[in-house]
Amino acid sequence: MEIVSFGSSSRGNAFLFRTARTAVLVDAGFSPRFLRDCLLQCGIADHELSAILVTHEHVDHIRGLSGLLSWHSCPVLATTGTLRALQLDSVKRIVLRQEEWIEIGDLAFQAIPVPHDANEPIGLRIATSGADVAFFTDLGTLTLEVREALQRATFAIVEANHDRHLLEHGPYPPWLKRRIASRHGHLSNDEAAAAACLCGSQLQGLWLAHLSEENNRPELALACVRSRLFPHHDLPVTVLPARGFRRWSLENAATVE
Ligand SMILES: [Zn+2]
Ligand SMILES: [Zn+2]
Repeated sequence: MEIVSFGSSSRGNAFLFRTARTAVLVDAGFSPRFLRDCLLQCGIADHELSAILVTHEHVDHIRGLSGLLSWHSCPVLATTGTLRALQLDSVKRIVLRQEEWIEIGDLAFQAIPVPHDANEPIGLRIATSGADVAFFTDLGTLTLEVREALQRATFAIVEANHDRHLLEHGPYPPWLKRRIASRHGHLSNDEAAAAACLCGSQLQGLWLAHLSEENNRPELALACVRSRLFPHHDLPVTVLPARGFRRWSLENAATVE
């Protein structure tokens, strides 16, 4: 399995999961043209996407969804609550039921419920032979189901949204600070470190995702996770940029910048 991030932050998120014959986009939070260009750069021509999976309806995850569907007429997978919020007409929809596995070509997806202020939001386990990816952005706390998925993962993508100090002393109004730090908001760097601590020794790599541009810095997120977790460990940890490719191949276990 190859994983490609097209960019990840509070402003936009999109990830491609692919094998030789399957290509699934998880979230479409950039402009349709940007997403189409990224897919073309990955060798995926129009109408070659197998499916688009949407974790929840916040704009940083769906900004380009309806536009992209005019170039990629593929099914959209989401929970019932998310599909209701998306209001997609004349598109093939596939309902993701929480905790159930669904197969798209070579890839299997399990929807894991997460606490976040949206309609039935999910994180994911994404599996193919020998690979089990834990994918968790946009969640306020690490539930039992999330912890179990992290324990099994061979690769993990985890939100490191904010530095607590920067959030507390930053420009956001008090209600928004409370929302972000709440159990239905976003994970801090400390919580991302705690999430990574749960992963087992089979973990090959970690991506830190969905950083806030106002309330975090890549070097703070990386230092927090590294110092708390792996002081003597050479596990590859990458902070995803807000825009720009990062790739991971679970066969040869390396991030290509
Ligand atoms: Zn988000
Ligand atoms: Zn969200």
